Parts: sequence; structure tokens; C-alpha cells
Amino acid sequence: RAKTSGRGRAEVFDDQLRAQLAEHAELERAIADGLAHGEMSVVYQPVFDVAADRIAGYEALLRWQRPGVGMVPPDQFIPVAEATRLICDIDRWVLDEAVHQLAAWRATGSATAQQVTMAVNISGRHLTERRVISDVAEALAAAGVPADRLVVEVTETVLVDDPVAAEHLAGLRALGVTVAIDDFGTGYTSIGQLRTLPVDVLKIDRSFVAATDLGSEELVALMVRAAHTFGLTVVAEGVEEVEQLDRLRADACDHAQGYLLSRPLAAEQAGALLADLPVVAELGS
Ligand code: C2E
Ligand code: MG
Ligand code: MG
Ligand code: MG
Repeated sequence: RAKTSGRGRAEVFDDQLRAQLAEHAELERAIADGLAHGEMSVVYQPVFDVAADRIAGYEALLRWQRPGVGMVPPDQFIPVAEATRLICDIDRWVLDEAVHQLAAWRATGSATAQQVTMAVNISGRHLTERRVISDVAEALAAAGVPADRLVVEVTETVLVDDPVAAEHLAGLRALGVTVAIDDFGTGYTSIGQLRTLPVDVLKIDRSFVAATDLGSEELVALMVRAAHTFGLTVVAEGVEEVEQLDRLRADACDHAQGYLLSRPLAAEQAGALLADLPVVAELGS
């Protein structure tokens, strides 16, 4: 059949494939150049303690300002970087920026700055590399940040698929680093697996937080309860509405992150949230 349909079709296919590969290669080069030439930056989205109504930490998120193009969202270039070792360079760079930023905040003497954690996303590809443990250890040492202030976020697929990744996570936890499972609910992990996964924090994917049908609301409550049963801290992602936050509070969800509370912020604005509140003189005394 392929033979009789002739060379024409195969050539069209070849051309498309070639064009795609070329585009991919060009984007890859642009990302590498961008990293080398200071086009990347990190923004920090606050994570709030739901019950205490105060900041618990930040998630470091990568931004790429591509000359002549503008802001390229991570979802459009991280997958390309993940096809090669480039993602390891990117993750390491973000990790370095983030822990140094936290160190700078801690150095201001703010009491809140000592308590907050910094979360970074580590790609599955990077996690399967043996050096991920020394990368993290070295970044912490260079910045002088205690390991228990760092959270490493990984998506669930890598944990289930790859025993090497799980082993490296155990190594990270042995350093004292906190491990979070990101976008929980979007992969194939069952709630029962939470019992054995080497993680400390569960981040519920925003698709569950946003859903308004009764089933999804029950599901979030169930995830929180199961996670607590297994000793995990729970973060709700993508909280955009007051009603969602109220519900999460009722479910005893520990932390919340989302546009309702704060968008990702430039370092300076993010750090301003850590200024200790001035002591207010008590009235009437
Ligand atoms: P993620 O780790 O799940 O990060 C949360 C994403 O949700 C961020 O998107 C954040 O801006 C967005 N978000 C936060 N609150 C809300 C909300 O209320 N509503 C909506 N609609 N979105 C909200 P962002 O920054 O575009 O990052 C997308 C993904 O790219 C991240 O998802 C993460 O998987 C990946 N990523 C970002 N930075 C890095 C990095 O340094 N290394 C690696 N490996 N991946 C990264
Ligand atoms: Mg994340
Ligand atoms: Mg997420
Ligand atoms: Mg994600």
C-alpha cells in the first residue's frame, strides 16, 4: 500500500518532519542561548498557610523574555528543554537563583524570612540523573540555606515510573530537603500510593480546586483527609475564588496558592511580604 501511494506522500511527510525537527532544534538553541545571555528570570509565587492566614513560603517559577518574541510561558519551552540535558542546566540555574534569593531575604533579619520555605520544580529528566543530589546539596551550601527550608517539587508520573527517581528522592530527603508531589490527581497515582511514595507534601492540581461539581469537591476533601492520614502536608494549587478558599479551610487543607492570594511576583515585591509587621502600640493602656 505504501509503495503504490507513491513517493509523493513520503516526501511530504519527510518535509514536515524535517521542518519540525529544525524548529525544535532552533528553539533548543534559543533556550540555551537565552540561559547563557541572561534572558531568564525567576518569579516567586507566595504559598499561604490557610489556618494561620500568613505566608508559608514561595514557589520559584521560571520566566523567559525572548528578544523579539516576548514572554514565552514555561509550558511552551520546558518540554523542549526536557528532551535534552538542557533541562538540568535550567533547573540548576533556577535552584541557585531561588536559594540565593531566600538567603538574601533571610539576611535582612526578618523573623518571617527565617520561617518561609522555597519550592523549586525539578524535572523528571533531572531527577533521574545521579547528580541531582549533589546539585541540590551544593546549591544549599553555596547559599548557606538550611536544607529544611527547601522544597523540591516533582510530578507524580516520574515517581511511579522510575525506581531510580524514587531512589534519588530518598537521597534528597536524607539531606533534609522536603519533597512535594506536584499537580496531584492528573497522573496515575492512586490515593493509596500516597502511603508508600517518598514524599512529604501533596499539591492538589488546580483542575480539582476549580471544579464546582459535588464530586470534585468531595474528591478534594478526600485527598486532604488521605494525605493527612499518611502524614503529608497539603497544598491546594490555583485558588482563584473566595469560595474555593473557604471550602479548603473547611476541609482543613494546610496551604493554598493561587491568583486570589497572589500572582507570581518579581523578587523585590515577593520579598516585601516578609517585612515584619510593625509593633502597634496597644490602645487604651
Ligand atoms: P507548576 O509547578 O504546577 O506551577 C504552577 C503554575 O500555575 C504556574 O504556572 C503558576 O503561575 C500557575 N498558577 C498559579 N496560581 C494560579 C491560578 O490561580 N490560576 C491559574 N490558572 N494558574 C495559576 P507557570 O509559571 O506558567 O509554570 C507552568 C509549569 O512550568 C509549572 O507548573 C512547572 O511544571 C513548570 N515550571 C516552571 N518553572 C520551572 C522550572 O524552573 N523548572 C521546571 N522543571 N519546571 C518549571
Ligand atoms: Mg510546581
Ligand atoms: Mg502544579
Ligand atoms: Mg505543572
